[in-house]
This record gives sequence, C-alpha cells and structure tokens, in this order.
Amino acid sequence: MTDPALLAAVEFARAAAREHAGTEVGPHVEVRAEDSVSATHLFDADKPGYRGWRWAVTVAIAEAGDDVTVSEVVLLPGPDALVAPPWIPWQDRVRAGDLGVGDLLPTDPDDPRLAPAYLASDDPEVEQLAMEVGLGRVRVLSRLGRLDAADRWKVGEFGPGSDMARGAPAACGTCGFYLPVAGSLGAAFGVCGNEISPADGRAVHAGYGCGAHSEADVEQISPVLVAELIYDDARLDVEPHAEAAADTADEAEAGTVDEAGTADEQAGEPSEESVDQAVAAVAQGELADEPSGQPESNQQG
Ligand code: SF4
Repeated sequence: MTDPALLAAVEFARAAAREHAGTEVGPHVEVRAEDSVSATHLFDADKPGYRGWRWAVTVAIAEAGDDVTVSEVVLLPGPDALVAPPWIPWQDRVRAGDLGVGDLLPTDPDDPRLAPAYLASDDPEVEQLAMEVGLGRVRVLSRLGRLDAADRWKVGEFGPGSDMARGAPAACGTCGFYLPVAGSLGAAFGVCGNEISPADGRAVHAGYGCGAHSEADVEQISPVLVAELIYDDARLDVEPHAEAAADTADEAEAGTVDEAGTADEQAGEPSEESVDQAVAAVAQGELADEPSGQPESNQQG
C-alpha cells in the first residue's frame, strides 16, 4: 500500500513542477500509486503546442515517516494529447509503388517469400551453365511466396472478379493470346500477349477476360439503320388490265353488270365481283402467254 504522505503531497509536487516549467503548470489531474514508496502526481501542462500533455511529478520516500522527495519531473502525453504516430521500421513501411528509378530495396536474408535454390557450386563454369539452363539463381520463390503472389493476383486488377472480367465474352484460359506461366502457378495464371488488351504483358488469372478475346464473336450489322421489310397483305391493290377492262365493257353492254356494281366502280371502289373478274382475266391472259407444250408448227396449223 502506498504511503498516504505520498498521495497527499500535491502542493509539494506542484512546486517541483513549477520549478521546472514556471507558469506552464495547470490544475492537478490525478495521482497514481507506483508502489509502496512512490507515487506520481499529474498536472495539466499549460504549454503552447502541447494540448493534452501533462507534467508528471514522481515523489518518493525511503521508508515510512521519512520526508517526501522528488524523483523526477517529466512532460507526458495524456489520453487526448496530439502525438506522432508509432514509429515503424522503414522495411515495414515500404509499399508497392514506392520504389523509384535508382532506388535500392535489399531483400531480407530471411525473407519467408524466398527459399534457397538447389544448385550450390563454387565453379564459375558450372554457374555459367546453370544460368543458361535456368538453374543458377541463389534463391527462388518459396511456397509461401507463390501463394502470396497467387492471392494478390487473383484479387487484383486482372483477377476473375474484376469489372472487365465480368463483362468479357470469355475467359483468358480459352484465349489464343494467353501464355501460361511455367511451374505450379501455370495452372491458374498466364501472361496476356495481346497488345490491344489492357492486360498486355501482365500476369492474368485464367478466369480473367476482356473484350479482345481471340474468339470473341461480334454480330456483323449494317452501319446504316435499315427498316425491316414488311408485307402489307391486309388490302388488295387492283391494277387495271387491258383485256379485263375490255371484258368488263362487253359485259356492261350485255347488261350483265348490275347497277350496284356499276355505281361502285363509278365511285372509284371496285366491287367484289369485278375484282374476281379482273383476277380471272389476268389468269386467262397468263395462260395464253404460256407455251402450250405443242410444237410451234402444230399450233399454227
Ligand atoms: S486478350 Fe483479353 S481474354 Fe485474351 S489473354 Fe489477353 S486479357 Fe485475356
């Protein structure tokens, strides 16, 4: 239990704070017991630029009944103080896109995304040959590194969930411009080789796609709007025919045309009967035009 004399030493602590800060010491805020022989008194700091900070005066005694003494006076941030964000090591602060031309960003020797390559040699000729056949790297992507890359690429701009992929006619996996990558990632990723595509030269997921897909089928339509051809069969147009007109005149003379029909035709509206007669006359004329199938000499004879 903290000595009561320490908890009660408010004015003693204030005097110590004023000795350091002059008039920049505000009201007493609280006292915190540190242990049985020490406690800290907190005062608002009335200091320009330090809103929410506090003067912390730690007082102590050697043993019960001794005089209270001052251990330290420091300025500390309170819960509402404006403080700098926590410090983060630079290698943890670097983000994609931060690397500029000429910048160096050494990889951690223990980077879990990398694993040692299998070839280890101190013979320069072996190393030269290994480089030529693609074996000479010191480290390669570890399983964690490959999974990391696959996760990132899948949810990225060229993944199957992007807007472009959702509007594509088909997926990259069926596209002639799709170049599968080597190794285990080849099951799901490739590089786009279509210069028209926004993904040209980029790693794309097999489920991604774009409108430049090699097999995209576009309906060929006229660049000019053409109205659809419509047949109007709701009405019969009657064309005057010379022979039909002659027949009608003969019948009129013979008194076979009734008065109603004559009136209709005079009014410009052909009657049903006259239409039938006109059609029959046309049919007769067409039959007469057709060859009879007999030799011409026979017809004349
Ligand atoms: S052209 Fe389009 S569909 Fe074809 S590989 Fe490239 S991004 Fe995929």
